[in-house]
Amino acid sequence: MRTSIKLVLTSVVVAFLAVQWTTPRLNAESLKGARVLVTGASTGIGEQIAYHYARSNAQIVITARREHVLQQVAEKCLSLGAQKAVYIAADMANETDPDEVVNFALDKLGGLDYLVLNHIGSSPFSMWDGDLEHTRWLMKVNFFSYIQMAWKALTSLEESKGSLVVVSSLLGKMPSPFVAPYTSTKFALNGFFGALQHELAMKKSNVSISIVTLGLIDTESAMDKVRGITSVPAYPAEEAALNIIVAGATRQSEAFYPWFTHIAAATREWFPSITNYFVRTSYSYTP
Ligand code: NDP
Repeated sequence: MRTSIKLVLTSVVVAFLAVQWTTPRLNAESLKGARVLVTGASTGIGEQIAYHYARSNAQIVITARREHVLQQVAEKCLSLGAQKAVYIAADMANETDPDEVVNFALDKLGGLDYLVLNHIGSSPFSMWDGDLEHTRWLMKVNFFSYIQMAWKALTSLEESKGSLVVVSSLLGKMPSPFVAPYTSTKFALNGFFGALQHELAMKKSNVSISIVTLGLIDTESAMDKVRGITSVPAYPAEEAALNIIVAGATRQSEAFYPWFTHIAAATREWFPSITNYFVRTSYSYTP
């Protein structure tokens, strides 16, 4: 047990230093005029992603379901410096909407340099109750629409030497209680886009895929779920968004925010029993 703890601590220090030394820095100039499509951009991390691109004078298409909110976000993007900011309302549970959104972006921007897949459907924070219908729906929104949009945008990204950015979660590497359907969608994303990374590299494709693993972020929807249930610290959405953009712009195949999610994911692989113990005891739950 003692050796395990020493090993964990040493790994934490080594990984922290490695992350500090090897994280590429963003050249904001490179994003000037970039043609970007961001999903789930009406609120939360997606909204912050749109604002960061706007400050770098990018051309942006944003999407989510609520048109009136998208309109406000697009207006703010323009006031922050976006060369262009347009929106399209779409429901990613709908089979044709993912294709329509990509077509809309290609039409408005004349191509794509970045596709940032970030949206998620709402799901309860509770023990699995056998609701298959909800899980199927969530798979459509959080997984199938991602692969549909990625496929539709691939030709344009190939032409522009572009980047595909997939926003994932620590829960896509480390199963956690109360979120079985959500965790499953993130594991599916990691598996699919991990395989696609190999295939694109083997085909010598121009397109880079960045899979970004996030820990707990202080968005309203996340905080509403975990308030009073966990003491895990939440990190700012604005900073998470910046890390997502940097991952895409610097073509990192994997990125982690905050940095210790990298350690948490590795620790789960190396020491599953200890990690499972900490996961289960990090929630206030009485049966
Ligand atoms: P939010 O719940 O704040 O935002 C979700 C976005 O998706 C909104 O813009 C929402 O807008 C849109 N959306 C919801 N349902 C649909 C739908 N059916 N079709 C199209 N768009 C939809 O999420 P966060 O900002 O918290 O999370 C963003 C990403 O970060 C997600 O991929 C999430 O898994 C990941 N992440 C977040 C963490 C966190 O703690 N916040 C932790 C780890 C990962 P609208 O309602 O207008 O459709």
